[in-house]
Amino acid sequence: MRAEILSVGTELLLGQITDTNAVFLSRDLAARGIDVMHRVTVGDNMGRAVEAFRTALGRADVVVAIGGLGPTEDDITKEAASEACGVALVNDPESESTLRAFFERRGIAFHEGNLKQALKPEHGVNLKNPNGTAPGCVFDLGDRAVICLPGPPNELIPMWTDEAVPWLSARGYTPAEVLRSRTLRFVGIGESLLEPKVKDLLACRNPTVAPYAKTGEVHLRISAKAPDEKTAMDLIAGKEAQIRERAGEWLYGIDDETLEMVTVRLCIAGGLKIATAESCTGGLIASRITDVPGSSETFVEGLVSYANEAKTDLLGVPAGLIERHGAVSEDVALAMAEGARKRAGADIAVADTGIAGPGGGTPDKPVGLVWIAVSTAKGARAERNLFAGSRETVKLRASQSALALLRKTALEEF
Ligand code: AMP
Ligand code: MG
Repeated sequence: MRAEILSVGTELLLGQITDTNAVFLSRDLAARGIDVMHRVTVGDNMGRAVEAFRTALGRADVVVAIGGLGPTEDDITKEAASEACGVALVNDPESESTLRAFFERRGIAFHEGNLKQALKPEHGVNLKNPNGTAPGCVFDLGDRAVICLPGPPNELIPMWTDEAVPWLSARGYTPAEVLRSRTLRFVGIGESLLEPKVKDLLACRNPTVAPYAKTGEVHLRISAKAPDEKTAMDLIAGKEAQIRERAGEWLYGIDDETLEMVTVRLCIAGGLKIATAESCTGGLIASRITDVPGSSETFVEGLVSYANEAKTDLLGVPAGLIERHGAVSEDVALAMAEGARKRAGADIAVADTGIAGPGGGTPDKPVGLVWIAVSTAKGARAERNLFAGSRETVKLRASQSALALLRKTALEEF
């Protein structure tokens, strides 16, 4: 089964709104085992919308159109679909009374212009919209269908799930197969090192394994098609076990689990108190830690010690040490982490000092050089990193490595 998503709206073409509806539909269709072959965006223009519908109908079994169902002049989706399908629009008394009732409940006067929203395809049905005025609709062409959904996501999502999907299932459009995915998240290993370890698995058909390089981490997504959920999940589990065997030491999380989430959870479980001392990340590590609900159980204190004096005054980094080695150095990073841990009475502290750029680099201390240190009662250690990218990327990568080092140390020492 092939689907095409057609987003209608000039505001989308102008980049004024993001097509979150298309993203939602893409994910949902994939999960139902329906292949989305094309995603097209067209403005609020009758001629071009009709053309887009015709093209879509030439290559898809199901065309899902988004937006343009309102009462105003520029809302042309239903009319364009009607023309492309060669299916007339007729008045739908049921939609009309629902519409009139909706206006009455809100105490708003009903304009005859709204009657346009009550039209329904001569061959097809209207889809109920309990969250707004515009009903959706289905043009039923026998072997193909066009589904029109309203633009506001709070209307589109329930209409899709509660009205459109049941219609598609009843008409045999949704395959018996299900597609399920699981994302394995890795940190501390780049794509170029991870890929060779799983190269043979990347060539497998079912489940498929696909790598995605993110900033500071790599994901492997395992996707399986099967007649039912359990079989799909079993297929995924088998592949996951193989991957864990080869690269388990870098795997930190599954699906939507972020590095800060697993790190905070780990420290809470171990009863550990965390402190941070940040220079080049400017508080990003602390911010990411506190993004996690419940972080107050583990996070004690985070300092942004940017100037040399702040490193000395707040963390007790000896001024002489900074003078001898420079603020961006292993010794200073270690002293910052130790200072932060002692000051906060924490079990574990992480610190960074680096050159985020774009200026300030020298041949022996280039832009992107970041020292990250961790300190516990057992001692301290530091890692030298050289990150590529913009100032923002260097900060993000540094915070990522700091969280990874925090997690690794907590796993090893507690
Ligand atoms: P429309 O149905 O085209 O008049 O759109 C009504 C409203 O829905 C717009 O003002 C947007 O806020 C929202 N909207 C329309 N299309 C989309 C889309 N593809 N993704 C997310 N929001 C949308
Ligand atoms: Mg619009």
